[in-house]
Amino acid sequence: MKGKSVNKMEEEEGDKAANTATKVTCTILAIDHTNLCYRVCAICERTLSTTDNNNNNNGIDNAPSFLCKFCHTNNKNKRLFRILMSIATDTEVITVICFDRIAKVLFGCSADQFFDFARLNPLSGVAVNEILEGEMFTMTLSKPLNCNAQNIRVTSAVPLSLGFRPAIEVLREFYKT
Ligand SMILES: [Zn+2]
Repeated sequence: MKGKSVNKMEEEEGDKAANTATKVTCTILAIDHTNLCYRVCAICERTLSTTDNNNNNNGIDNAPSFLCKFCHTNNKNKRLFRILMSIATDTEVITVICFDRIAKVLFGCSADQFFDFARLNPLSGVAVNEILEGEMFTMTLSKPLNCNAQNIRVTSAVPLSLGFRPAIEVLREFYKT
């Protein structure tokens, strides 16, 4: 895995793990659509407690109110994507995690936009899995710096197919919205 050079131009913003990055060509096998996002404070972007997120419906949570412990504002929160998915490289099948910036490449919209759409079209989470399954990407994978972080992280994702369409575009067409 190690030893491949990392192009400086492809280093991600704030990605301190770039020195352990590996570029792979891979196929998406499945996305955990039951848990696609987390909530952050809209002001400071710190993660908010998600204790009342357990009763989610296909990953589509009702909008609970949160109090940010840091800036003490109420209700000003937004979702960011955090997606677990399994991918197949030419040698192995691995579970990776991708955060908001990468997930937007796959989804073509923000997490809030996706969940607003999914609220009206409840099968969107399942459909996303089907839409993205089998799509091929060149991904940069980084090992987590934090020992507590279990999953290899995707730090860049470029679709191989010129005809790739982000999931939300396919969904909008399907639901004719
Ligand atoms: Zn805050």
